[in-house]
Amino acid sequence: MGDKGLKAIAMRGTKSLNIYRPAEFVEFCQEVQRFIEYRMKNPLKGIVRTMPINAYIGIPQEIKVVDDGWHTDNFAWGNARFRRKNYWNKEIEKRWEECLKKVCKRLISCYNCPVQCAGLISVEGYGTYVLKCFSRLTYLMAAMVDDPDFSFKINAYGTEYGVDSYTTPQVIAFAIELYEAGILTDQDMPGFPSDPESRFFWLLEKIVKREGIGDILANGVYWAARQIGRGAEIYDHNTIKKHEQVPIKLGVLNPIYFLMHATGEKMCITQIQGQIPQVLLSPEEKEEFIKDWIQLPSKYAEKIKEWLLKWGEAPEYSYPFWPPIDTVCALVDWQETMHYIDDSLGLCAGLSSFAYKPPYHIHNLPRLIYYATGVELDEESLWEIALRNRTLIRAINVLRGLRRRDEKPPLDHWKKRFLEYEEKLLDEYYKFRGWNKEGIPTKETLERLKLGYVSKKFIERGILKEEEA
Ligand code: SF4
Repeated sequence: MGDKGLKAIAMRGTKSLNIYRPAEFVEFCQEVQRFIEYRMKNPLKGIVRTMPINAYIGIPQEIKVVDDGWHTDNFAWGNARFRRKNYWNKEIEKRWEECLKKVCKRLISCYNCPVQCAGLISVEGYGTYVLKCFSRLTYLMAAMVDDPDFSFKINAYGTEYGVDSYTTPQVIAFAIELYEAGILTDQDMPGFPSDPESRFFWLLEKIVKREGIGDILANGVYWAARQIGRGAEIYDHNTIKKHEQVPIKLGVLNPIYFLMHATGEKMCITQIQGQIPQVLLSPEEKEEFIKDWIQLPSKYAEKIKEWLLKWGEAPEYSYPFWPPIDTVCALVDWQETMHYIDDSLGLCAGLSSFAYKPPYHIHNLPRLIYYATGVELDEESLWEIALRNRTLIRAINVLRGLRRRDEKPPLDHWKKRFLEYEEKLLDEYYKFRGWNKEGIPTKETLERLKLGYVSKKFIERGILKEEEA
């Protein structure tokens, strides 16, 4: 889920760990533990109705919770092409339930965490592995296969080979579309099978062994499309900044997600988004949701509550023109900032930035940091550190060539686009961040964040001019 580039920190030795205030630190951990237990016993009402896998905390609970009609209905199948509103029904739910019962030996957690997001999966003849989150569906949906068994079998191979279960199914589905369109042929793929399941296994083998067409596909959709040529670029319709995105194709432009997709520095929306309901709740559910929404940052709390309470079907309160752009920026800022904090602290996003009403939030994290390290921070100063990180990462990307032209979700990401309004959203977000029209942090912004050395570099390289900086 995160962007930390590490899975675990292993420590060895017999000496004590130094903690600034050990007694308070342990008490804090117990407080968090109590909250976790409370949240695991109290799924959020509106969310459990609309997105059951997200009603608890942790990463989406797709091994513990069987019903994932939310992903199968709303995400796109194949090469991010089709929505299948009728896949999830009582019969398929029963099949998934039986299959999960058969293959999931037990639920497991990361070390010392009680949340149990993952399952230990064992399929006869395919080895044992750990599975969690949307990986349960990524291969199945990309392959347009109905049978849950396929998912657990191919994930066994994918896990063993160490490939990413978000992007790998996409590059395979992309290759199959090219084959069906006659852009890739039997000459490129001699012996290519005819049924969808065998095709996925076949291409997965080629990719991990970098054999034949697999050598090109292993570079990812964006680069493979350009290497293959012959019109393949048109089939690359789900990448942003040269990277595969989660396969989502929706109806009307969502201004909050537009900005996160367009301006995020990270590969995937799951590393940027979090904490705000993605589907409409009933008026009663909304009232209930905001009652104990203690995680809201002080500076945006009222704006965000207003957004949620008013957001609805009425044209003046529906996307893309609701909420006002300053609230859109606040919503984006909150979501991004919490991920930057988690990335720096090594915290699991499932217990903080990604989850609804998580145990760690902007109000108690300064306390955790103080008890652990003695560094005194409050909500504002912690936010400022995250903003420096966010700006510094943007600066690195700017040095590598990132400009406004790159900040584009795929054209078919939403059926109804509002291109003029999207430009306005970008303009306003850039202003909110203190960036110029090209999305480059200005000298003033960099100096305010004590990053003056970055603006000097920008001027030296001709990225900013002294007079406009
Ligand atoms: S640390 Fe995070 S991913 Fe791991 S079990 Fe806990 S909540 Fe889930």
